[in-house]
Order: sequence, then C-alpha cells, then structure tokens
Amino acid sequence: MSTIRTRFAPSPTGFLHVGGLRTALYNYLLAKKESGSFILRIEDTDQSRKVEGAMENLIETLHWAGIEFDEGPGKEGEFGPYIQSQRLTTYQHYAHRLVEEGRAYYCFCTPERLEEVRRKQIAQKINPSYDRRCRSLTKEETVQRRKAGETFVIRMKVPFEGELTFNDIIRGEVTISYGILDDQVILKSDGYPTYHLAVVVDDHLMKISHVIRGEEWLSSTPKHVLLYQYFRWELPRFAHLPLLLNPDKSKLSKRQGDVAVEDYRLKGYLKEALVNFVAFLGWNPGDEREIFSLGELVKDFSLERVGKSGAVFNIEKLDWMNFEHLRRKPDTDVLCMLKEKLASSPFAGKHFTDAYLLSVIGAMRERVTFVRDFLEKSPYFFQAPSDYDADVVKKRWKKESPLHLKQLVEEFSALENPKKEEYEAALHRAAESLRIKNSELIHPLRLAVSGIGAGPGVFDILFILGKEETLRRINSAIKELSAAMALPK
Ligand code: GLU
Repeated sequence: MSTIRTRFAPSPTGFLHVGGLRTALYNYLLAKKESGSFILRIEDTDQSRKVEGAMENLIETLHWAGIEFDEGPGKEGEFGPYIQSQRLTTYQHYAHRLVEEGRAYYCFCTPERLEEVRRKQIAQKINPSYDRRCRSLTKEETVQRRKAGETFVIRMKVPFEGELTFNDIIRGEVTISYGILDDQVILKSDGYPTYHLAVVVDDHLMKISHVIRGEEWLSSTPKHVLLYQYFRWELPRFAHLPLLLNPDKSKLSKRQGDVAVEDYRLKGYLKEALVNFVAFLGWNPGDEREIFSLGELVKDFSLERVGKSGAVFNIEKLDWMNFEHLRRKPDTDVLCMLKEKLASSPFAGKHFTDAYLLSVIGAMRERVTFVRDFLEKSPYFFQAPSDYDADVVKKRWKKESPLHLKQLVEEFSALENPKKEEYEAALHRAAESLRIKNSELIHPLRLAVSGIGAGPGVFDILFILGKEETLRRINSAIKELSAAMALPK
C-alpha cells in the first residue's frame, strides 16, 4: 500500500475553530497510525479574507494541542512551499494547461454583466449560474481580446449533462448530476486561483492520499473530481466529517458557546481533555472506553468508525473529560500548573513550599475539574478566611460554639507536631469532656479554618495548615463570629 499522506488545509481567517481542530486531529491520527505524514497547508488564496497573524496563531494552537505536522510552513519538505499564495505560478500553469486541452476557457464577462444575468435568472426563478456565454468564443476571438488587454478569468467546463459518482469513506457512494454545477472560475482576474483549483493541484502535487475535511466541503468535491479527471490524475480518498451541532441540534455556532480552541485554552481546559473530547465528535472506539491520550487515539483511530450523523458538542462531557485527565496527571505536573496559576492570582506575592502545595493537591485532587478550582474551591489553603459563608454560619454556628471551640483550642495546643489522627483524637476528647457529639465540634471547626462548609476531610485540612495556623484561625473565628452574633439583627 502506498504511503499515507494527509493534510490540514485551513484558511488563515481567524482563530482555530474546534471543528478545525477535529479535522486537523483526524488527519494527524490517520497519518500517525499508518506511519505516514501529516501536512499543514495554508490556503490563503482569498486575500480579502486573510487575517494578519492568523497563520502563526493556528500553528501555535496546533502545537499546544500536540498535533505536530511533518511538513508545512517553517518545516519545509520536498513539496513546499506550503502557503498557497507562494505557489501562484504553479496554479496559473495548470489553469492554462486546462485551457489548452479544451477543458477550460477564458471568460471576459464583466461583473456588471454577470450581475445582470443573475438578476434575470432570479426573476425567471432559475437557479443563478453563469450562462456560459464565453464558452463558445473562438480561439481567435479569445487571443484578440487578451491582446487588447481585456481582463479575464478562467472557468472550467462542466459537462452539460450526465452525472458524476465518487466514493467517500464515511458516506459511501455520492452521485450528483452535472446540471447543478456551474462552470466554476478556477483562476481569478488577479492571477490567484480559486479554492477548487488550488486544492486539487496541491493535493496532487503534495501526494495527498486522504482528503479528510468537514461536511461543508462535500458539495465542492464533484468539481474537484472533475478536475482530477481533466488532469488525468489519480483521485485521493475522500472522507467528509459529520457536522458539529449545538445540544439543540442546530449547527454549532458562536451564539451558543465558544467555538475557538483559544477560548477553551484560556478557560483552563487541558489540551489532553480537549483533544480527547474533539476526537469523540464523530468517532468512537466501539467499546466503553472514553478516556484516551493522544497516543492511544493514534493506536485506535480509524476512519471506518467515523459516523455520518451530526456530532453534538456537549460541554458537560468536556468538563468531565477535563476532570478525568487532570486526575490522571502526575502530582509534579499538577504542581507546575498550580504554581503557574498562583503566580497570576491574588495570592501571587505569597510563598508556598512545593511540599505544602503537593499536600494541597493530594487533598483536593478528586474535587477539582480545572487547575483554577484549587484556588476557587479551596482558597483557604492560600489565605486565612476573611469572611465566613453566611448560610453555613446560620446553620452550623451555635451560641455555644465559641465555648466549644475554646475547649478544642486547649486540646490542640497540647499536641506536638500532630498528624491528622492526633487532631481527630483530640477532638474526640474535647467532645467527650463537653458531653456533645463530635459533629457539634467538627462543623464549627471546618467553618473556622476554611470559612465554608464543604471540602476535604477537616483533619486533612488541619494537618496541611499546621498547628499554629489552625489555632490562629480558630481563635479569630471565635472572636469575629461571636462579635457578629452580638450585633443586633
Ligand atoms: N481551505 C479550506 C478550509 O478553510 C480547506 C478545505 C479542504 O480541506 O479542502 O477549510
């Protein structure tokens, strides 16, 4: 079997869309699985839509996601350049070759004339298309008009009747009748090719074996197949990926949530989670497994397991995958991420030892979906509570609580380098001497040290904070909450 070569061919018109990430990923997975090559090609032939910096951003985002290309801008291979605007003479050569071979023709129609034709067709309720006026120009007329300096485009000739069939790995056989195709412009008046010509020429010259792209390109494929036939080139295999849908089954759009990979990255999603999630938008391994690393995806991926029907973008599932991937990360990796997060947080000026942060990670690991949750769900590990959750105070802080906690302070003070079990035993002793239930101490204690009502085991919190800090927090809660209770309501 010949070498697998796939490509991702974005137009540099903005941020990388999650749909684009999926296309890039599937192309990458297939190439890696088959020990082939994955190529990045920048399709910038529509210069009016080009956005400054978009290509660099795309490359950076792919790199972040771990989707590395083998050939592309900045990684020149045998088939470069990989930016279409740097390949114009190639496209011009092939467009003119088609004219010479009678498969395409010069069209001199002005935009005004085309508009006029369009208007008339709409008035007659005909689908607007080019009326093929220049298709019947003689060679002499054409030469003359070109000599006179008239601007022209080149259009491909589409047969007047009949139909065309091609095979798609995901959709099977696709047949369309020529009647619905226009005599497509392949070379514009400014010498730039249109997408249709450039994509075919490049996929051929770059020896692309599989064209994997979004469903929105399916309707363009017949034009491409026709061009392959005109050039007498071997067809690549096509695979058109299912649409991405919002949970309400409408087409995924910005109106219902973020669509740029950049947005998810900024929100703190792990690349492992986003890649895993995006892989499942249309594909599944055929069994129960859902959590995959990029390497595992490479091993298990196949285009045969990509479905036809639209794939729903379910953000809860993405969150769950983030939770699962974060859980699986080694402590040292989480430590790096936590330190980075702390550095840009209100706690930035404070110093925490690695050992301290690792114990926080140990206590919170099963409770966090994002790295930022360490700070948001347990800020008390980084700063003594400055206020106390009013609902918890109402429910858990009794008028006897100050007295109870004072007893606890006494018990705790006598401990030397206590571990969590010793804190626990000391609390039991205090409860016993006060003749109350353990829980009557535990709830106000948790409130005193953390300011809130939920979190990891309270004795784990005490151990992490240390005795001195624990006592300081209990004493200040006694003072502040008693004072607050004394205020007239
Ligand atoms: N340039 C097209 C895009 O922006 C590529 C379509 C294709 O893969 O052929 O998505």
